[in-house]
Amino acid sequence: MEKPKLTIDEMAVFCKRKGFVYPTSEIYGGIAGFYDFGHLGVELKNNIKNEWWKAFVQQREDIVGIDGSIITNPMVWKASGHVDGFTDVLVDCRKCGSRFRGDHLIEDKLKISTAGMSLDEIAKEISRHKIKCQKCGSELGEPKKFNLMFATNIGPMQASSSAAYLRPETAQVIFTNFKLVQENARLKLPFGIAQIGKAFRNEISPREFLFRMREFEQMEIEYFVHPEKQEDCPYIDEILDYELNVLSADMQKQKKKMQKMPIKECLNKKIIKTRWHAYWLATMHKWFADLGANPEHFRIRQHVKDELSHYALDTWDLEYEFPFGWKELQGLSNRTDFDLKQHMQHSKTDLSIFDEETKKKIIPHVICEPSQGVERAFLVFMFDAYNYDKKRDNVVLKLHPKLCPIKIGVFPLLSNKEDLVKKARDVYNELVKEWTCTFDLSGSIGRRYARADEIGVYACVTIDFDSLEDNSVTVRSRDTTEQIRVKIKELKEILRKFLDGEKLGKLGEKVE
Ligand code: ATP
Repeated sequence: MEKPKLTIDEMAVFCKRKGFVYPTSEIYGGIAGFYDFGHLGVELKNNIKNEWWKAFVQQREDIVGIDGSIITNPMVWKASGHVDGFTDVLVDCRKCGSRFRGDHLIEDKLKISTAGMSLDEIAKEISRHKIKCQKCGSELGEPKKFNLMFATNIGPMQASSSAAYLRPETAQVIFTNFKLVQENARLKLPFGIAQIGKAFRNEISPREFLFRMREFEQMEIEYFVHPEKQEDCPYIDEILDYELNVLSADMQKQKKKMQKMPIKECLNKKIIKTRWHAYWLATMHKWFADLGANPEHFRIRQHVKDELSHYALDTWDLEYEFPFGWKELQGLSNRTDFDLKQHMQHSKTDLSIFDEETKKKIIPHVICEPSQGVERAFLVFMFDAYNYDKKRDNVVLKLHPKLCPIKIGVFPLLSNKEDLVKKARDVYNELVKEWTCTFDLSGSIGRRYARADEIGVYACVTIDFDSLEDNSVTVRSRDTTEQIRVKIKELKEILRKFLDGEKLGKLGEKVE
């Protein structure tokens, strides 16, 4: 039976209590949409980013990374369309002044999707269903568009000539560096440029904890292909049999439920239009599954026609079933040559590249832009890892070993025996050279195991009186509580194998 899920508020409480995430500057009352990551949260977040960077940059020949600046020439945002069009629908209360997102008011009240609704349609729905202020119940004002970019000033002047923006996405810095990166990294189509970094959006109503923040991080790839070779995906065979829950625009129109199908069926039936788009959808889904997320909690949903961004030919979202419903986890858009062309026009710089085969200049197409929020990934891994173990009467956070903030706990059986503590310290000092470890002296050994389970420590190593005699220790698995006895000189090798996914019982003599 599926375990009952935590609510998002319960997850926020758990994250705060255990040192994963804190509301920022809470001693001053905090500030909506901004969070700080604690001693465990920072490790988990770094592990997520490292795994992503390894998988999509370091272990691929066709993708390189960059790290661009947060503030960039404001012309970038004019060219990209953000200055004029990066808006959400704002509705304020006529009486108390509270501000809401128009589409969210409708979704909350009517439990329907507002995907693709225009400003006028939102206004009509609010009036037709007599939707009132969620705070005080009074009349709402006229819906209007609100630009989500944070504005700032550069240098000591407060003049409009010094106005700039905090970037609302990392993508544009990839486009503005496109030519330099392509030439210097000697990239040949098809290729990708990736970036991980902060993005800022002045969300009208940040909510659902880390799901909708005003300052967050993105992991993005712009994947470029030859405009005339958009179907040549050399990796397609890797994922043809990969199965996903699919909800196409047509299925949404016909009010059909999502359906599980292999990628090859999606391509044969032209549900997903290009092989590259299919490849990236499956690859991103697999990345989550390989890191321990439950594949059944995901689906891919195509944007309906009116929902598409101004730059996109086709967009699919990788969605996750959060406790507050199916929501976007990652957006994967076909951005065509829109961005490069826009920047060529506005900067008067040639960003085309030379095609050796046809001896012509071409403007590559972004066949797919997988754009992932780090914090939304953080939530997914936390929700799927969170287990309440009835037998242990304790939370066990079953994070994948690659993601665990702390991999190993080292405990002397008794904390008041000097020789045990010393030997345990020696073991800890050795292990900490390779992994994040915790050394815990307080409370009974059972209490220490429970504390470690709750924060996802993958293995615990206990040093007891026998260890002083025979130089062996007990290794305990977080997930099964199984224990084996191991010689200290073999400990590192055994832990390496265990963290690599081998079963603990196969790595040493079991302890009953
Ligand atoms: P939403 O519809 O949920 O507002 P979006 O379509 O505006 O998201 P994109 O512009 O496609 O989001 O951004 C790419 C990714 O960046 C999202 O899939 C999400 O993971 C992340 N992201 C976007 N906005 C936020 C936010 N306010 N807080 C946290 N993550 C975000």
